[in-house]
Amino acid sequence: MEYLVTGGEMSLEDKLQVLTDAAKYDVACTSSGVERKGDGKRIGNCVAAGICHSFSGDGRCISLLKILLTNECIYDCKYCRNRNSNDIPRATFTPDEICTLTMEFYRRNYIEGLFLSSGILQNPTFTMELIFRTVWLLRNKYRFNGYVHVKTIPGAAPEMIEQTGFLADRMSVNLELPTAEGLHTLAPNKHRKSILTPMRQVQNGIRNNRNDLVLYRNAPKFVAGGQSTQMIIGATPESDYQIINVAESLYRKFDLKRVFYSAFVNEGDMVKPYLTGDGAGGFWKEDVFTPEAAQKVLDGLYQVVEDPEGTAHEAYRSEYRLAGKTGTAEIKDSKEDTDGTELGWFVGMSGEDTEKPLLIVMMIEDVKGRGGSHYVIPKAMKGFDVYNKTDEGEAEHEG
Ligand code: SF4
Repeated sequence: MEYLVTGGEMSLEDKLQVLTDAAKYDVACTSSGVERKGDGKRIGNCVAAGICHSFSGDGRCISLLKILLTNECIYDCKYCRNRNSNDIPRATFTPDEICTLTMEFYRRNYIEGLFLSSGILQNPTFTMELIFRTVWLLRNKYRFNGYVHVKTIPGAAPEMIEQTGFLADRMSVNLELPTAEGLHTLAPNKHRKSILTPMRQVQNGIRNNRNDLVLYRNAPKFVAGGQSTQMIIGATPESDYQIINVAESLYRKFDLKRVFYSAFVNEGDMVKPYLTGDGAGGFWKEDVFTPEAAQKVLDGLYQVVEDPEGTAHEAYRSEYRLAGKTGTAEIKDSKEDTDGTELGWFVGMSGEDTEKPLLIVMMIEDVKGRGGSHYVIPKAMKGFDVYNKTDEGEAEHEG
């Protein structure tokens, strides 16, 4: 296989600056769901901590090296900074350069894995080959055993997608816009079919692989962390109902792990991501949802706590209002796997009727047989009770 991409004139540092900055608009990069212990021969491991990584101030996903292979692109999607017609500095990494950066950052404990996306260089198959080559080198030459999430390039040859799937933990192909009309308007080079075809291929690959793993314990795993996608919300006039329908259909028909879109708080405005104490404030995108849709979701979260039938009713306090959501993440190799562990989640938010808003996100490992998320709720509530000085909180202090 002949690779035409060379390092070029730019220094690695300059490329890194251009290509990490260009990657910040891709948000489909959590690493939940993959657990792989160090094997003593290769470098790195994967922890299925269910952590949705936070974003740093410049948009990088904390603990994943999040970069583009290239911000060159033959396409001209109107919403994209890397579109062909945009006059911006361009750079392209070689596969070896990406491997070197990943290994150096990993050894310095800056990252736990790699999130690799890309513009389209020459054509989709050529770009997918470069992504494949990068992950192949990382796994085989550099012996990297950590988490790797790569983009599936729509329109790439199925063989390239398949081979990449046997090396990556997660793959994602961006739906880009909720409807075919929206895609036609803003990304005229892309077609719904060329996005859904690789999504289906990866879905089928994961399903077939489950059967293989039942028959052959040591069969190679295919996209063990599942696939995800992201949609741009707000650029085209789809209603909230259409967007939710599309997301629901993706989960149901394509077994997606995550559909990423924006926040349901701040009356539909998406907050600019930042690290504690560095550059807080401001909105990244405004009017992503209607205030009515945001309020509807918030009301639902209050009901989770206030309704006696709500899954987190034990968090109910008469002194203040609390919105909440419970969750349990099952860590399994397959649907048939009954030996997996469980992570319990609780997210609670108070603040509507107090001067001191508080958000607590708590996850506890190994809650199987201990009540799932119900094991977590009382522990998170200790924080709320002490903070809000309720009777339970005073008792906790005295205790
Ligand atoms: S194909 Fe991707 S990188 Fe290229 S312009 Fe469209 S969204 Fe941007």
